[in-house]
Amino acid sequence: MHRLTLGDFELTAVSDGTYPLDGGAFFGVVPKIIWSKKVTADENNFVAAGLNSVVVRTGRETILIETGIGNKLPEKLVQIYKQPAKLLDNLHAAGVAPEDIDIVINTHLHFDHCGWNTVRRGDQIVATFPNAKYYAQEKEWEHGRLQLERDAISYRSPNYDPLLETGQMVLLNGDAELVPGISVKVLPGHTANMEAVIIESGSRKACYISDLIPTSAHLDMTWVMAFDVLPLQSIESRKKYYASAIPEKWLTVFTHDDQTPWGYVERDERGKVELKALK
Ligand SMILES: [Zn+2]
Repeated sequence: MHRLTLGDFELTAVSDGTYPLDGGAFFGVVPKIIWSKKVTADENNFVAAGLNSVVVRTGRETILIETGIGNKLPEKLVQIYKQPAKLLDNLHAAGVAPEDIDIVINTHLHFDHCGWNTVRRGDQIVATFPNAKYYAQEKEWEHGRLQLERDAISYRSPNYDPLLETGQMVLLNGDAELVPGISVKVLPGHTANMEAVIIESGSRKACYISDLIPTSAHLDMTWVMAFDVLPLQSIESRKKYYASAIPEKWLTVFTHDDQTPWGYVERDERGKVELKALK
């Protein structure tokens, strides 16, 4: 388990496990001969992707950022993605019960980011975190509802519609501060309305950057995923992010890195963005 203090807040990285993603899709237009120096693929060209959520304890609230794949995937998708379903066990190991969570934030509504929002109980689908208020972007939800050919498979309404029906999920219209020190910022690219979560306490900042920079192997400005619906916009959003995160020394949290859930980024002498070792 990875835990650190950021100002007055405590951050714990908690995983839902790892799942296989095609290396070509993960690294987009980057040739395998180059990306395979950073990440090893198996005989089917799959690489292991992490599913990192973060628990933030502010002293007042307990906040869960992202909820992994969950345990409700249909059989066809279980065969592809395995459904590790480890988040609740790992939360328990970190001393967090589902009832303790006050706020859940989904950076976007792809199935590998909001799966544990809900669980099946009998023939109903209910909130996994009964006392939590859930937040997502309204335009992200509207896009998922369209069920377009390109990405319909990623949007599974049981992960969020039951929460909207009970009023437990609130849809946001752009950037917002949810509680003091916790805000969301829309950074388009991976999806048109993906948001990052910015955590700020005692003049220190961290950012759950989500699928804009999925792992520490994706730090190069142009190494954007083939999954991104707006890849050129991803590059612009990364530029914007690095312009603040590097000089202000923000801690960057990587959703899909199975080794390194977070770290500081810096530029080397050639201007390449790299991970700085955590001291
Ligand atoms: Zn993802």
